Amino acid sequence: MQRTFAPLMAAAVILAGCATNPATGEKQFSLISEGQEIQMGLEADPSIVASMGLDPDSGRQRYVREMGLRLARVSERPNLPWTFRVIDDPVVNAFAVPGGHIYVTRGILAHLNSEAELASVLGHEIGHVTARHSVTQMSRQQLAQIGLVVGTVLKPELARYAGIASQGLGLLFLKYSRDDESQADQLGLRYMRRGGYDAHRMPEVFTLLDRVGQASGGGRVPEWLATHPNPGNRRGSIERQIAALPAESLGTVVNRDAYLRHIDGVVFGNNPRDGFFRGSEFFHPELRFRFTFPQGWATQNQRQAVVAVSRQQDAIEAITLSDQATPEAAARAFFSQQGVRGTPSRGSIHGFAAVGGGFNAITEDSSVLAGQVAFVAYGGSVYQLLAYGPQARWPAYARAADQSLGSFDRLTDPTLLAVQPWHVDVVAIPQAMTIDDFERRYPGPTPAATLALVNNVDPGTQFRSGTLLKRIVGQPLP
Ligand SMILES: [Zn+2]
Repeated sequence: MQRTFAPLMAAAVILAGCATNPATGEKQFSLISEGQEIQMGLEADPSIVASMGLDPDSGRQRYVREMGLRLARVSERPNLPWTFRVIDDPVVNAFAVPGGHIYVTRGILAHLNSEAELASVLGHEIGHVTARHSVTQMSRQQLAQIGLVVGTVLKPELARYAGIASQGLGLLFLKYSRDDESQADQLGLRYMRRGGYDAHRMPEVFTLLDRVGQASGGGRVPEWLATHPNPGNRRGSIERQIAALPAESLGTVVNRDAYLRHIDGVVFGNNPRDGFFRGSEFFHPELRFRFTFPQGWATQNQRQAVVAVSRQQDAIEAITLSDQATPEAAARAFFSQQGVRGTPSRGSIHGFAAVGGGFNAITEDSSVLAGQVAFVAYGGSVYQLLAYGPQARWPAYARAADQSLGSFDRLTDPTLLAVQPWHVDVVAIPQAMTIDDFERRYPGPTPAATLALVNNVDPGTQFRSGTLLKRIVGQPLP
């Protein structure tokens, strides 16, 4: 994910300029030709798949892909190399990259309730691509010489050494303007109608996203809201557009039951098999290790790294897997990097062979970092445990980092090793009931409010016998 688009841009200046967009009919200023846009997408897609991971259910992947392709074919750019993928991520999100690559998370699938709703989301993202929103936005940024946004909480000079995929992902989390959002909604509505889907389901998606936002307690905004602003006004505006259209042009396909059957069994929430936190303690049941980060640091379990950042965001700790065969080889590779100084020594952590030590590193912009690294052989792999910050501030962190790196150990607690994710389970209710009745009859690890949320209904709504409803099955984390 460290690839930058800089060389591409230099050529782009010569080739591109103003062109009429086929979806919007507007004149668009762009430094990026369609060929370059496609190239960008083809380069970004494998990185996204590698860093975020795919939902392993091939049936679900096929379902979303086929639906997406049907909608893309009725768009103004049917011949882009469109791909539609389900990302193995619990957050409620969907995003597009230039060139026709669209991603929905398993989190948004778990919350949607019909094919027509999924078509709204896919149609909206297709709209961002056909209207070339990212492309024009990137051109604007190139002009302003801002460069790509680094989508991370970290200062980039800190992220660079931690092996964290941040730069490429920045491309995904470019924030669209409100005008772009309205336009994508409008285009989404168009594609959904052309696909025969009931357009009235589109405003439902905004209600759902509002509910998800409220349920997160004003804390973490769902990603879709963060990058696709202003759902309140968007709902009103799309409702007005629908009202102005002839009723017979709105489409009738909803396919609620078919949709629910396809998402039956999808993992709900964080998957603890991929590792989970209890305070500053981290457990990884698949890789069978445990680790304690410094107290009070903000932690994040990413696909290729487990990361913690100090309160002032001036120090970082990261666990990654080394691609070297032995701790010695890994240490040699690390300490022979340009600008890195230090003398590693052999030792052990909880009985596992380890090589490591303190180091200084001079960055490209001549600032000096200081830190501590250890390479540990465990379970047939070599783990890199790395902590560092600016040299001037490192003394304040050195002790905590040292202790933390030394906490790496095997995970033996059978309860923690056996932890399982929660799943969505689709049930045909045997009699009329409300969500509260449903929760009492099918209790799970989540409250009735969560069931109301994933079924996108008010808690008091009464359902007819035979209605399919989602429940959540699983055990609370130990
Ligand atoms: Zn959007």
